[in-house]
Amino acid sequence: MVAEIIDGKAFGARIREQVAREVGRLQGDHGLTPGLAVVLVGEDPASQVYVRNKGIATVEAGMASFEHKLPADVPEAELYALIDKLNADPEVHGILVQFPVPDHLSERDIVARIDPAKDVDGLGVTNAGLLASGQRAMISCTPLGCLMLLRDRLGDLSGLDAVVIGRSNLVGKPMAQLLLRDSCTVTVAHSRTRDLAEVVRRADIVVAAVGRPKMVPGDWIKPGATVIDVGINRIPAPERGEGKTRLVGDVDFDSVKEVAGAMTPVPGGVGPLTIACLLANTVTACCRIAGLPEPEGLTA
Ligand code: NDP
Repeated sequence: MVAEIIDGKAFGARIREQVAREVGRLQGDHGLTPGLAVVLVGEDPASQVYVRNKGIATVEAGMASFEHKLPADVPEAELYALIDKLNADPEVHGILVQFPVPDHLSERDIVARIDPAKDVDGLGVTNAGLLASGQRAMISCTPLGCLMLLRDRLGDLSGLDAVVIGRSNLVGKPMAQLLLRDSCTVTVAHSRTRDLAEVVRRADIVVAAVGRPKMVPGDWIKPGATVIDVGINRIPAPERGEGKTRLVGDVDFDSVKEVAGAMTPVPGGVGPLTIACLLANTVTACCRIAGLPEPEGLTA
């Protein structure tokens, strides 16, 4: 079997088109423009690129984008004052502080400062608790995108065996909660899991969110399984010239594609879904804050 390679860019574009339609509807029917505020502390080059791309995508979807750049040595109190201001701003429906932040700041305390209704990354304990107890939550963008993709391809996920490799608050745990909510039989694997190969071989759905290049080989995969590769790892690529690098996932693409039924590539798989779901979450937050019905299909 040769796996179908899932085009995450195309699926992300479909989500973004729906977001843009919903933004048009909110503006036309209610005079509301969803707004996303992104806060960048310091000058980390990768973070600058992420923030710029988020701003461009937000504007392309017809939403309002608010960018706030603070110096790397910004006092904690000043950052919190900005977050408080954004929490109170009626034009802002989503707030995202780009991580990592400099060492003198606490990511946990920053997330706790953001109004849960505007926590479009779904990272705060309120949203994590709501998700875990099966209530309406803001859901972390990457797992939300993965779930939308899985539903789109497989339809009803009920009864399928799913293995999530990784248990981070950002990806692994919310991914497992979402799959459980869709009635999968879920196993969460991590660095202490015994015989990971055997665990993964049971799975109809594998989600790899580890951060170790090509860790999952083809002989761990049940024939026909759907494999979602969340990992983003930069490795040396001497074949491209001296000092060059390239991106690979947590899954060994070449061997897994011979066994899986469908899989996401890296790059071009999960990455484009994350930004699309950030926009989707901002629209969802806008509707909830305004007390309007939520659009179908933009959240789980
Ligand atoms: P974390 O480092 O927070 O978590 C990694 C998880 O992998 C941990 O739970 C860890 O287990 C587990 N792990 C580490 N080594 C092993 C191993 N040998 N066997 C099994 N499990 C292992 O990472 P994130 O969840 O934040 O991110 C994971 C990957 O996804 C990264 O490559 C990141 O860049 C990428 N990512 C991609 C996004 C996208 O948009 N495509 C968005 C977010 C992340 P333990 O808890 O026991 O230490």
